[in-house]
Amino acid sequence: MNSPTSPTVRRLIQSDICIVGNGAIAKTTALAFSQAGQSVTMLSPTTPAASAPAGDPGWDVRVYALNHTAHDLLSALKVWGALDAARVAPVDAMLVNGDGAHAGGLAFDAYGAHTGTLAWIVEDRNLNQALDAALKFAPNVQLVSGRASGLVRDADGATVHLDDATIRAALVVGADGAQSWVRGQCDIGLDYRAYGQCAVVSNFTCELPHHGAAHQWFTGAEGIIALLPLPGNMVSLVWSAPDVLAATLRGESADQLAARLAAYAGPKLGTLTPLRPELVRDFPLVIMRPHAMTAPRVALVGDAAHVVHPLAGHGMNLGFADVAQLVRTINEREPQRAIGDERVLARYARARKEDVLLMQLTTDGLARLFGADLEPLRVVRNFGLNLLDKLPMLKRRLISHALGSQG
Ligand SMILES: Cc1cc2nc3c(=O)[nH]c(=O)nc-3n(C[C@H](O)[C@H](O)[C@H](O)COP(=O)(O)OP(=O)(O)OC[C@H]3O[C@@H](n4cnc5c(N)ncnc54)[C@H](O)[C@@H]3O)c2cc1C
Repeated sequence: MNSPTSPTVRRLIQSDICIVGNGAIAKTTALAFSQAGQSVTMLSPTTPAASAPAGDPGWDVRVYALNHTAHDLLSALKVWGALDAARVAPVDAMLVNGDGAHAGGLAFDAYGAHTGTLAWIVEDRNLNQALDAALKFAPNVQLVSGRASGLVRDADGATVHLDDATIRAALVVGADGAQSWVRGQCDIGLDYRAYGQCAVVSNFTCELPHHGAAHQWFTGAEGIIALLPLPGNMVSLVWSAPDVLAATLRGESADQLAARLAAYAGPKLGTLTPLRPELVRDFPLVIMRPHAMTAPRVALVGDAAHVVHPLAGHGMNLGFADVAQLVRTINEREPQRAIGDERVLARYARARKEDVLLMQLTTDGLARLFGADLEPLRVVRNFGLNLLDKLPMLKRRLISHALGSQG
């Protein structure tokens, strides 16, 4: 123990890049910079991640629809091949349903989009296990756990202070999620709005085959219901329900939840049976628009840089696109420019602006349009869905954007 007068000895850790965070986006950023030849320190919080239950962990209720941008990046990093493929479900079709007596509809399929598959449904646990396995073999990646207490930036780089160590890097990447500590240290302001909805998630088996189709119902009063295909005869629910309904759903059993879903899914998927009745989770939904994706010697990626409504299943995909762009921009910098050079970071922010803005506007617009339970809006949105379904050019552009890099 140090006496009050003895100086505290701090470890000094030096690397090109310091990544703050330990979610899927932080791990992917670490792998991508390591593959590009940079040395990386990845700072995780001290609280251990919740460990999987012993024995068969069952199917994770946190699943992501990953697009071609995510697939291509994870393949290049040799992570896609390390996923447990038996637990990944390709999405071959997407069926969107409007609400009310004259419900509109919109259908996409992989064949019409000239692609092998529209997306892949991957469990959070499967993704993180593959990323952890790849990180074990990644050269020049140092994993540090601790609580960051300060971030100091200067002309040559940045210093992250921990209780017992100091991390020095040319660039700090904030991959620390929606409540980003890094973003807070840089005084980057943000626009925030709660949707007054919670996403209720759980897994079910379905009586009829889902044929690789993702179903979505825009119900108006009851929010937005998505049933995503899992391997075999299973589906994963994401129900973006208004807060009051979400509280009711939370208080009910998974069987009651299945009974409510029958009204929508029954004709297509037959009877739904809860896979693990005790596993129903919920997430409050918000939109967060930070005013900048960079600050001197700092870049933000993933939810630290933008949080969108999950109705289009694209938050994580946007994060993967951030990572790919950040690493590309830094690799392509002029030889005289440093990794954290202001102009290089400005190029990254510019390159991501349109994609991020488009996704924010689209998801926010749809959440508002389909969240209101008003008859005139119901007519307009159902008309819009039907019209879009009959406009192949516009539909193709929309699909191509949703697919990511393949589209
Ligand atoms: C219901 C729901 C369904 C969704 N479905 C999809 C989908 O189908 N497809 C899709 O693309 N996206 C989807 N998303 C969005 C997706 O979940 C997020 O965009 C994604 O998880 C963000 O990843 P991240 O790594 O940036 O942030 P997070 O997953 O939040 O990870 C941040 C990490 O940083 C760590 N951290 C926090 N503070 C610190 C600190 N001070 N120091 C060190 N570490 C810190 C945390 O422990 C955490 O591990 C969905 C979201 C919801 C709510």
